[in-house]
Amino acid sequence: MPGLEDLYREIILDHYKNPRNRGELPPPAVRSEGHNPLCGDEIEVFLQVENGTVSDVRIGGQGCSISQSSASMMSAAVKGKSIDEVRALVHRFRHMMSVEEEGEPDSSVALGDLEALQGVVKFPVRIKCAVLAWNTLTDALDSATA
Ligand code: ZN
Repeated sequence: MPGLEDLYREIILDHYKNPRNRGELPPPAVRSEGHNPLCGDEIEVFLQVENGTVSDVRIGGQGCSISQSSASMMSAAVKGKSIDEVRALVHRFRHMMSVEEEGEPDSSVALGDLEALQGVVKFPVRIKCAVLAWNTLTDALDSATA
């Protein structure tokens, strides 16, 4: 049996207690929201894209510690990256979380702190919590680049 220590790693708790990039961004930043009805998680992503780069990101919403810390870690990971780099990171993260994806992810994309969320895979019902922010980010990216 996987232990709860796999789910609540220290870095996950740190991001839950001290969420990074909380807040909102005014237009022309795009806004996207996502819900995970299974757990009651809500995530809001504000995304500012300039010259093909995510120049700023802010996170709103509420929910369980896995959903909120994943959103915080995501915001820290994507800020300053190009759209292509962010899409490659989303692909790699979703693959790590056992979400079915087309094609193999680029293994040269570094996950860094995000690897702490790998333990969530052992708790299948929580995978949607961890992936929610990333799906919401993808919606925001699609809006920003439409
Ligand atoms: Zn949740």
